[in-house]
Amino acid sequence: MTTSERVAKVVLVDIEGTTTSISFVHDVLFPYARANVERFLRESWVGDNTKQIVQDLQQVPEFSEYRALLSDAPAEVDVELISGFVRYLIDQDLKVTPMKTLQGLIWAEGYASGELKGHVYEDVPGAFQAWRDAGLQIAVYSSGSVAAQKLIFGYSTAGNLQPHLSAHFDTHVGHKQEKQSYDTIAKLLKEDPHQILFLTDIPGEAAAARSAGLQAIILQRPGNAALTDDQKLSYEVIPDFKPLQNLKLPTNKPQA
Ligand SMILES: [Mg+2]
Repeated sequence: MTTSERVAKVVLVDIEGTTTSISFVHDVLFPYARANVERFLRESWVGDNTKQIVQDLQQVPEFSEYRALLSDAPAEVDVELISGFVRYLIDQDLKVTPMKTLQGLIWAEGYASGELKGHVYEDVPGAFQAWRDAGLQIAVYSSGSVAAQKLIFGYSTAGNLQPHLSAHFDTHVGHKQEKQSYDTIAKLLKEDPHQILFLTDIPGEAAAARSAGLQAIILQRPGNAALTDDQKLSYEVIPDFKPLQNLKLPTNKPQA
């Protein structure tokens, strides 16, 4: 099936490498959290939210490992110790839940102050508009938390795109390379899986989606990992959303 003939009721988009450059997450968001964690903790240290996050961070198995690495670790858990630990987690690319929660709060401040804007490729707002005008729904499935997804689209380089989005899913529904996750998403959307078109940059995610009955197309954005010849043969590959501008709802006409 070519893009011009495709029909769907829901477009399910991945973020990193699909709507947004991979470098935005790695070169903007993570460094922002790293640079602002100590200030953020200092300003919010006595608040209940932060107290809970600090408690949860101490339960992370790597915490004692990190503490043991320090020659001058304080006896008391203080701002410096916790911020150092968070920077350690970011540097090790360890995505533990309390750190994700904390990063989300730091980013929320950055977006609200205008210091951060969520990157979206220039073809994204037009495609969102066209799909919605055609009566399709748009949903998001990303390994970033739902809160972080809403910030990227709510404070995007193209303005507030959040009104276009009717559902958000993160790894609470399961991992992105597992069929089960896509079964769950189809159930939650109350939609026939065949009527859901998943857009992603990762062939393993496309494969999982397809095995659950979804349609899948792979994005080859600048900076995305190269695809093998096999992968290029197995999937429709597009450079941006423009070929999908004319996506339509299924009609009731009998199939030829
Ligand atoms: Mg991706």
